[in-house]
Amino acid sequence: MCMGEMTNVNKHIDSFSLKWYNISRSNMASLTLKNVYKEYDNGKKALSDFSIDIAQKEFVVIVGPSGCGKTTLLRLVAGLSKATGGEILMDGVVVNNVKPKDRSVTLVFQNYALFPYMTAYDNIAFGLKIAGMDKKEIDVKVKEAAKILGIESELSSKPRELSGGQCQRVALGRAMVSNPKFFLLDEPLSNLDAKLRAEMRAQITELYEKLDATFIYVTHDQVEAMTMGTRIAVIDGGVLQQFDTPRRVYEHPANKFVASFIGSPEMNLLDSVLKKEGDKVRLTTCRQKLYLPLEMFEGVEEKFLSGNIGVTIGIRPEDIIILPKTTDAQNLKVNVKNSEFLGNQMLVHAMLGGETITIKTTEQVTKGKLAITFDINKLHFFSAKSGRNIR
Ligand code: ATP
Repeated sequence: MCMGEMTNVNKHIDSFSLKWYNISRSNMASLTLKNVYKEYDNGKKALSDFSIDIAQKEFVVIVGPSGCGKTTLLRLVAGLSKATGGEILMDGVVVNNVKPKDRSVTLVFQNYALFPYMTAYDNIAFGLKIAGMDKKEIDVKVKEAAKILGIESELSSKPRELSGGQCQRVALGRAMVSNPKFFLLDEPLSNLDAKLRAEMRAQITELYEKLDATFIYVTHDQVEAMTMGTRIAVIDGGVLQQFDTPRRVYEHPANKFVASFIGSPEMNLLDSVLKKEGDKVRLTTCRQKLYLPLEMFEGVEEKFLSGNIGVTIGIRPEDIIILPKTTDAQNLKVNVKNSEFLGNQMLVHAMLGGETITIKTTEQVTKGKLAITFDINKLHFFSAKSGRNIR
């Protein structure tokens, strides 16, 4: 979306969210999408059979690769774009045909979309003025928002005199004073440097805790997803892959896509075969083997333990254990290619058979052969064919 277009949208949004401003609200703000589809006029399918239930006052982070449909989802919720199928409900009421101005939503973009010729104060106050609110009341609201956001001393500055972080705070202030039920944030921090991003992450989380609103936050930064969300919705190709708490998504990824998308450095995924042998299961990967206790596979379909079906195992770099070279324990042999020094840890890139794997360790590792094993409680198993988690 270009800047001009954004400014228009924001102008529009500032005024529409205000309609709700002095209405005594019930404190409900739940959102449901039921089998939603969005196909653009050019035939591009941006969302397919998308269903999600977001509870009152959740902070839901929408993550996924570029072009997966994140912004489309926000635009549908804001009412700026129409679903081509399915239902969108706010507090249980279908809103597909409700105009944006009649939904209690506000959008915050990465480009802030501030009016350059207005002071921070006037940018925050703009929508309230348009709505005809009393000047004194506006003053109270603007100052209250500025105080929460720590920009009281910047209120007379124009956007060009402000830093990126301060501009984003002004944009948040403008959204706050409109008192929406739903805060929709589209990559709001992606223009900021790493330090400011960390600061603003904390500030948005604090804001969320103070306000009685539901937050839907789009990002492709997984640190934001992991640290800010009460739940994360992972999308790929317009399809919801998993919707769960950050911990569940990290520890129990629903499929290979989620496993590799969430976590940095990425989870190692290795083609393998499992074969039940007595009370053990033989895991063969990269032409080497490990024996695992059968109990680990309770509930796993027998066919995956037959030795005839491809299974992808997943192990995060920090869940690989480096063993002493002379170990008696069962182990896998790897050849260290190179390593990166991270200060308190090392990232080691090594060859396991023909595959490159990454190991995160606090040990000093030099080039050469290493004996490793996996923390078996942290192993993930996926169907090689469908990608789904088989446990
Ligand atoms: P990014 O992270 O790059 O912003 P996104 O996940 O927000 O991407 P969307 O902007 O929702 O993705 O786009 C989803 C898909 O729909 C993309 O393939 C995109 O090319 C397509 N798309 C988006 N807007 C339109 C449009 N107005 N007309 C046609 N296709 C569109």
